[in-house]
Amino acid sequence: MKKRIGLLYGGKSAEHEVSLSTAKAVTQAVDFNEFDVFPIFITLKGEWRVGPQLTEPAQTIEQLQFTTTSEQSENNITQFINTHMENPFDVVFPLLHGTNGEDGTVQGLLEVLNIPYVGNSVLGSAAGMDKVVMKQLFEMANLPQVPYEFFIRSEWEREKAAWIKKCEKTLGYPMFVKPANLGSSVGISKATNAEELEKAVQFALQYDRKIVIEQGIKAREIELAVLGNDTPNVSVAGEIKPMTEFYDYDSKYKDGSTALIIPAELQANVYTDLVDMAKRAFKAIDGAGLVRADFFVTDNNDIFINEVNTMPGFTPVSMYPLLWQHTDVPYPQLVKELINLALERHTEKQ
Ligand code: ADP
Ligand code: MG
Ligand code: MG
Repeated sequence: MKKRIGLLYGGKSAEHEVSLSTAKAVTQAVDFNEFDVFPIFITLKGEWRVGPQLTEPAQTIEQLQFTTTSEQSENNITQFINTHMENPFDVVFPLLHGTNGEDGTVQGLLEVLNIPYVGNSVLGSAAGMDKVVMKQLFEMANLPQVPYEFFIRSEWEREKAAWIKKCEKTLGYPMFVKPANLGSSVGISKATNAEELEKAVQFALQYDRKIVIEQGIKAREIELAVLGNDTPNVSVAGEIKPMTEFYDYDSKYKDGSTALIIPAELQANVYTDLVDMAKRAFKAIDGAGLVRADFFVTDNNDIFINEVNTMPGFTPVSMYPLLWQHTDVPYPQLVKELINLALERHTEKQ
C-alpha cells in the first residue's frame, strides 16, 4: 500500500515564500508511485490547512496556496489533527524554516501525534535554533569557535557600559551582534565601534531577548551537508562567496548576489578535519536526518565552526541539496533518503 506523506510548508515566518518554492520542488521529486502526497499549507497568519491529495507535481507555488471562503483563524491546527485522526499520515516532511518550524515546536506537535517526521528531533531542532545553547554544546564537544559573549535584555539594560567594556576586552572590533534565536541573517549586524555596538544590540533586541556577540573574523565560509541518523554521511564542501559585506538576508534570498562554489577548493587535510567536525557537531546537537554545518576557514587554514542549521535551505538551488548533488545524491534520491531516515528513526524509538 502507498504511504501517506504530508508536505508541511508555508508558515508564519519571513521564509514563507522560500518554503513554498521548496514545497513545489519536493512535489516534483517525491515518487507518486510510492506515496500519496498531501499538501499541508500554513498560511502567513498561522492557519494549518490540509489540501486535497496531489495527483501530480505542483507546477507553480500558487497551486500550493489554498484559498478559503471562511475567516482565517490564527494558529488553527484542528483540520490537520482531524485529518490525521481519520486517516493517519505515515510521515510528515516539514519544509519550514525558522521560528515555529525549525525550532522544535512543530516537531513537538508531531511527536505528540506520534507521526514520523523528516529531520531533527525536538531537542536537536531547539538546540540548533538557539545560538547560545548551540555554542555551549559545541564547546563541550571541543569544537573550535570564535570568542563570544551573550546576555539577555535586562542584563544589557542594567549594565550597558559594562557589557560594552567587556566585549571590547574579550572580543575586540569588529564584532557580530546576533539575536540568539533566528536564522537567515535576520537581526544580525556588524559593529566596528562602541556606538555601532550599542545600535546593533538595540537592533537585535527587536528580534529576541537573548543576544550573542561574536568576535568578527576574516575568513572563508565553508559549508558541509550531513545526512543520516546514527552514522551520518558528509558531503563534499561548498564555499559561499557573498558579494555584499556579509552573507545577509538579501544576498541569501533576494538578489542572488552570492556565488556558491562546489566543491570548495581546500587542502585534503583541511577537508578531512571539516568532515570530522561536521559529524561531531551533528552529534553534539543530537542531530537526526540532516544538518548543514557551516564553518569559517582562515587563510592559515584555522577552522572555526559557525553554526549548524537543522532545516537548511532546501530548494534544488540551495547549498544543502547542491552539496549532495555533487556527492552523487541527486535531489529525488535525497528526498527519498530523508523520508527513509524519518521512518527508520521512528521505528527505532518504538
Ligand atoms: P544565521 O543563522 O542567520 O545564518 P550566522 O551566524 O550564520 O546567522 O551569520 C550570518 C552571516 O554573518 C554569516 O554567514 C557570515 O557571513 C556573517 N558572520 C556571522 N558571524 C560572523 C563572525 N563572527 N565573523 C565574521 N562574519 C560573521
Ligand atoms: Mg543559521
Ligand atoms: Mg548562517
